[in-house]
Formats: sequence, structure tokens, C-alpha cells
Amino acid sequence: MRYTWSSATHVGLVRAGNEDSVRPTTDGSREEPVVVAVADGMGGAVAGEVASRIAIDAAVAEDPAADITPGERIRRANKAVVEAVADDYTLSGMGTTLTLGLFLPNGTAQIAHIGDSRLYLYRDGELRQLTRDHTLVADLVALGQITAEQAETHPRRNLVTRVIGTPDIDVDEFEIELAAGDRVVICSDGLNSMLRDREIEARLAKASSPSEAAWSLVEAANAAGGNDNTTVAVVDVSL
Ligand code: MG
Repeated sequence: MRYTWSSATHVGLVRAGNEDSVRPTTDGSREEPVVVAVADGMGGAVAGEVASRIAIDAAVAEDPAADITPGERIRRANKAVVEAVADDYTLSGMGTTLTLGLFLPNGTAQIAHIGDSRLYLYRDGELRQLTRDHTLVADLVALGQITAEQAETHPRRNLVTRVIGTPDIDVDEFEIELAAGDRVVICSDGLNSMLRDREIEARLAKASSPSEAAWSLVEAANAAGGNDNTTVAVVDVSL
């Protein structure tokens, strides 16, 4: 399989700084293993920016071809963030989401995920969220205590229940088999908090390249208000 990727990130229209991080930051295309990751940092002052950068740098430090599972990459990222806080108390309380895909030449993508960033598969014109949000409202929806519509306006909808920067982390890990024509999207919640899945789907249908798709989605999130930093990485799969 060949993977062709691009990423886009923007501070949005409300926030003072961009606390998201994404890798790779440059476009590319290859048939060897590729690691793509999005992190959405949180914490006082600039700590959110620091957390997402430290985490993503640690996660992608080893070559994509190295024999390291995405889950292990996330655990290394967590260790790096926890150590940074231990070294500098002004960073205490910082944390970050991290959603990471390792795309292998045989068409398998190994996914690891913690937090409320998302990985979607766009296949045959249909968008499917493959990661589960680690948020209070997602738990409440799963328990049937509120509806998905109520979750969108719930006063505590920003509460993330699992995050990097804590001693023990619980990472979701799974694999998917990709096919030529698939498009994978990894994004921070700045995208899906501003746009409904149907709007994301429509933008993906129109975009002819990963770069066009990523920037089109960031622009749409800003056009809808840009309340948060928005980061989108797109990976196209071809033979
Ligand atoms: Mg965010």
C-alpha cells in the first residue's frame, strides 16, 4: 500500500495560542511504514503547548519502521510528560490527548488513542469514527443517561477522562485493515466540536488531495466559529 499524507493546524479565532501538535508537519508519500499523530494539550499558561509537543516528539522519536507498537509509543510519550513535570513544577497539571496511527505496507493500520482527539475512516463516501472519546459526555451517552444531541451542549462536554500526563494511563489499541481509496482523518476536537460528521464528510468528498482535505476542514471549523485550535491530519491509501 502507498500512503500519502498531509496535515494542517490553526489556532482558531478565539484562543490565544495553539496547544495542538501534529506529526508529520510536512506532506509526503511512501510505501514504507508511516506514523501519523495528533495531540491536543491542556494546562495553564503555555503548559498545554509544552505537553502536546513533548508527548508527540517522544511518540515519534523512533523510526516508523522500528518494532514499537503505537501503544508503547503512547506510553513513552506519557513517561516523557510525567518526567517533564517532575523536572519543572510550573508545568504541573499539564496534559494532552494523543491519537496515533502506524500505517504498515501490508495495509494494516495499528491505532493507539487516549483522550478526545479522533480518528475517522472515510470509506465509500461514508465517515466512521473509529476511536472512542474519553470524555464524561461520551460515557454518559454510552450509559444511556444522555443523548448524543444533549452531549453537544452539555456544560461539562469538555471534561476529558483519560489523558497523558498521569502516572497510570489506559490506552485504547486496535487494528484496522485498509483498502485502496480509503482516507483516514486524525483530528483534534476543534474540528468535531465545530462541524457535524455530515459536514466533515462533504468536505472530504470534495477534496482531491490530503492537503486540500486537511485545509478545507480547518477552514470550515474556523468559518463555523473557530472556538478551539483545530488540527487535521489526512492519510490517503492507494495501491
Ligand atoms: Mg481542543
